[in-house]
Amino acid sequence: MPIADKMVKMVEAASMIRKMFEEGISMKEKYGADNVFDFSLGNPDVPPPAVVKQTLMNLINSKTISHGYMPNPGYPHVRQAVADYLNKEYNAKVTSDLVVMTAGAAGALNDTLRALMNPGEDILVPAPYFVGYNQYAFVAGANLKTVSSLPDFHLDIDAISSAITGNTRVMLINSPNNPTGVVYTREELLSLGRVLDAASKKFGKRIYLISDEPYRKIAYGVDVPFMFDVYPHTIVLTSYSKELSLAGERIGYLAINPEAEDAAMIAGAAGVTNTMMYVNAPALFQQAVGLLQGVTVDIGIYKKRRDMFCEGLYEAGYEFDVPEGAFYLFPKSPIESDLEFVNILKEQNILAVPGTGFSGPGFFRLSYAVPDKTIQDSLKGFKKAFDYVK
Ligand code: PLP
Repeated sequence: MPIADKMVKMVEAASMIRKMFEEGISMKEKYGADNVFDFSLGNPDVPPPAVVKQTLMNLINSKTISHGYMPNPGYPHVRQAVADYLNKEYNAKVTSDLVVMTAGAAGALNDTLRALMNPGEDILVPAPYFVGYNQYAFVAGANLKTVSSLPDFHLDIDAISSAITGNTRVMLINSPNNPTGVVYTREELLSLGRVLDAASKKFGKRIYLISDEPYRKIAYGVDVPFMFDVYPHTIVLTSYSKELSLAGERIGYLAINPEAEDAAMIAGAAGVTNTMMYVNAPALFQQAVGLLQGVTVDIGIYKKRRDMFCEGLYEAGYEFDVPEGAFYLFPKSPIESDLEFVNILKEQNILAVPGTGFSGPGFFRLSYAVPDKTIQDSLKGFKKAFDYVK
C-alpha cells in the first residue's frame, strides 16, 4: 500500500461521501439542476448579510489591514472582540487569552481534541452525530465512543452515566444538532453536568465537556443554553460557517471557561496544536469577524423553509419531530432500511443522506439549506416514494 495502513479506512469513508456528492453533480447534468432535489449538503445558500461585504471592502481599503503572521492563537484585538461579545451576551467572564481563533469549527475541534486527548483515550458522543467527528478523533489518536440518545434524540442521561469509564476524557455534544435538529434543554444539560462531575470524582480524572455550536444562532424561538453555566469544565467552539454563511472562508474560534480546571494550560496547548495544522486562522476573516460580532444571517428564511418542509412531509405521511434548530430534518425511514429508502428517493431525483452515516439507522437526513423552490418542487416525489413503500 502506498498510503499508511491506518489511512485506508478513512479514505474509504471519505470516498463514500465524495461519491454521493459526485452522483448529485452527474444527476444535475443529466436531468437539469431544477429537476434534481439535493438535500444532501449542509452548505448554507442564504447570502451573508450585506454588512459582511461592506466590512470586507472597508478592511481591504484600510491602511491598517494586516496580511502577515500574527500570534498563532489569533489577533489579540479579535480575540478580545470575541471575549467581549461572549461576556456581554452570556456573562461568560472569559478573557481574551482563553479564546483561540481557528479555521472553522472543524479547526477548533481538531485543536481542542489534540490538546486534551492522550492516545487511546475515549471521546463520548451521543448518537446520531456529525460524521466529521470520526476524522477529528482519528487525528487526535483517540477513540470515538457513541452513547444512545432517547427516542426524541435528547440526551439519555442514564445511558451517558453508564457509558463513562476511567478512559473517558471528553464528552462531546452538539446543540442545535446535526443531523437531528434537536436543541438540548437547560435541565438536561444541568443533569449532564452533574453526571460529568460525579464521574470525574469517581475516576479521579477531570472529564471535559466540548460543546460544538456552529448552529447556536440558528434556533427557532427556543433557548440555547450557554454551556459555561451548566458545567464549569467546558470548552465551547463554533464558527461563522452557518451563522454568517461563510463556510468556505474557514473561520471560527474556541473559548475555554475560566473556571475550567487548567483553563490556561488548555488554551496554551490549543494555540500550539493549531500551529501544527494550519498555523493560524485566516487573517482577513479574523479581522472581519472581529467587527461582526452578533451579526447573523436572516434566520427567518430557514424558519420559513422548515415550516414549509415539515408541512409537506407531514401531509405525505412521514414521521419526524419538528426541528428546533440547525437546518436539518431527520425523518423516520418508512421502511426498515434507510439505505434502501434513500435509493427509492433517488428514483424521484431526491438526494438525502441515510441516517446510518450518522450512526442513526432507520432515519434519513434532509438539509433545507436550499432554495424554497427546491423544497416545494420535491414534495410530489416525497409523496410518491412514501406511497410506493406503504
Ligand atoms: N460540527 C458540526 C455539527 C457541523 O455540522 C459542522 C459542519 O457542517 C462542523 C462542526 C464543521 O464546521 P466548520 O465548517 O465551521 O468547520
